[in-house]
Amino acid sequence: MLPPVSDWDVIVVGAGNAALAAAVSAREQGARRVLALEKAPRTLRGGNTHYSGGLLRIAFDRAEDLRPLVPQAEKDVPGFFAGVEPYPHKLFMADLLRVTDGRTDPELAELLIGRSYDSACWMAKQGIEMEPAVSLSAVKVGDTIKWSPGAVVRARHEGVGLSAMWFKTAERRGVEIRYDTAAVRLFQDKRARVAGVLVRGAEGFQELSAKAVILGCGGFEANPEWRARYLGRPWDSAKVRGTRYNTGDGLRMAMELGALPHGQWTGCHSTPIDANAPPHGDRKLTDKTNRLSYPYGVLVNARGARFFDEGEDFQFYTYAKLGGITLNEPGGIGWQIFDAKVLHLLEGRYKTGTPETADTLDALVDKLPLDRAVCRRTLEAYNHAVGEGRFDPTIRDGLATHGLALPKSNWAQRLDTPPFVAYPTTGGITFTFGGVRVNERAQVLGASWTPIPGLYACGEMVGGLFHGNYPGGTGLMSGAVFGRLAGAQATGSF
Ligand SMILES: Cc1cc2nc3c(=O)[nH]c(=O)nc-3n(C[C@H](O)[C@H](O)[C@H](O)COP(=O)(O)OP(=O)(O)OC[C@H]3O[C@@H](n4cnc5c(N)ncnc54)[C@H](O)[C@@H]3O)c2cc1C
Repeated sequence: MLPPVSDWDVIVVGAGNAALAAAVSAREQGARRVLALEKAPRTLRGGNTHYSGGLLRIAFDRAEDLRPLVPQAEKDVPGFFAGVEPYPHKLFMADLLRVTDGRTDPELAELLIGRSYDSACWMAKQGIEMEPAVSLSAVKVGDTIKWSPGAVVRARHEGVGLSAMWFKTAERRGVEIRYDTAAVRLFQDKRARVAGVLVRGAEGFQELSAKAVILGCGGFEANPEWRARYLGRPWDSAKVRGTRYNTGDGLRMAMELGALPHGQWTGCHSTPIDANAPPHGDRKLTDKTNRLSYPYGVLVNARGARFFDEGEDFQFYTYAKLGGITLNEPGGIGWQIFDAKVLHLLEGRYKTGTPETADTLDALVDKLPLDRAVCRRTLEAYNHAVGEGRFDPTIRDGLATHGLALPKSNWAQRLDTPPFVAYPTTGGITFTFGGVRVNERAQVLGASWTPIPGLYACGEMVGGLFHGNYPGGTGLMSGAVFGRLAGAQATGSF
């Protein structure tokens, strides 16, 4: 008997960076009918990708290798290629291993890093334009621009641009996109191959059959009940930095078929954001609520005490854990305090907030809703402990405090130059680290450690890469690598 004719060659669940990379890749590899399901309405489409900074962490051997990605770079940043340090495979791997305490899945990490450059070039060929990530990654001192290692390129116009470019590319490639349509359940044929998706749209439920299904519908960051279940207190009350639609649906659907969970289910990416940020990502503010210049200041909690080594490392190696650390402080609040010496170094994003300001440190503390007596003692002790040396934000300058139980390891300068400012921050959740286990073909593995035929996953849904922390710009790169791979493999499977 002939197999029944499928409605679609490939159904991709989701419409963020990973899912649309998968859809475009499937079309490129010869899939004729490709459908992307987007749970959100058109006005809220694009998942976390829309809210992102568009930063892409890429391994490259020579600065010149970036030219195909950012051919116009020297127009925006004179001397760009001369100023960028190479970021070879082994450095990317060392960073990923260091920030995850060696817990990244070695095979997935190898895939991600080994294909990062090639996949970025592929994105560029598909029509994803890129630019130097000046406002995110560059520190300017005099005439010198220093880039954070490996995090040099971003999508043009950040996440908003990236998402818009992916939709344009997908439409141009003939991918059909159905908005307001949530995947609810996967179904399998008699041979246990995934044969389609039950969806819920404006007209109710509908079964859509396909030769292969790719899940690219994010983690469970926007689901307070799952956050409570897996991340525990106080994550159920965390602000969500991005989309409200990533509620773990894809993970649930895959695990209902017996998919193997993988990675750190108790972990997530979360960053220090404006304490007054809205409860979910704002389409216009996007990632501008981030507050990542803390290495240049002092961070205190509502008890007036320091709780984090602000200068442990460059921001891109600590920001993704500081959100959670802040959220776990009393009231979930951290005050970032700076003096006039470093105000020019604060990221432009600080302009979206309203700091407390005063001409003396004492007067500033008087304005803050925290334990003022303790805070004064904390700041005094900090100022007293600052060592001698030259402050240099372009390197780990070793300008550390001495004698504090909790040191500040780099960029420690006295708070002594008015005006003094303080920004209130909290921890906002970005995405969750727990996912499903995929193999080197992006196939989802079942509980017997063999692929579930016809089922692929990409993006945030891939578990195992991140643990406790994350190097900035890796989420989008992972989505592109595994999305492209899933699209090609799914198409090659029929
Ligand atoms: C504020 C912010 C800034 C960030 N900045 C960066 C950065 O600069 N660089 C970087 O690498 N990463 C960044 N990230 C992380 C990055 O955005 C994510 O890692 C990446 O976008 C994940 O891509 P994805 O395609 O897996 O998921 P998403 O882009 O979130 O897409 C998921 C899609 O699935 C849809 N969906 C969910 N459930 C269903 C369902 N049941 N049926 C149908 N569709 C469904 C959603 O609506 C959405 O379209 C940032 C994230 C945020 C929130």
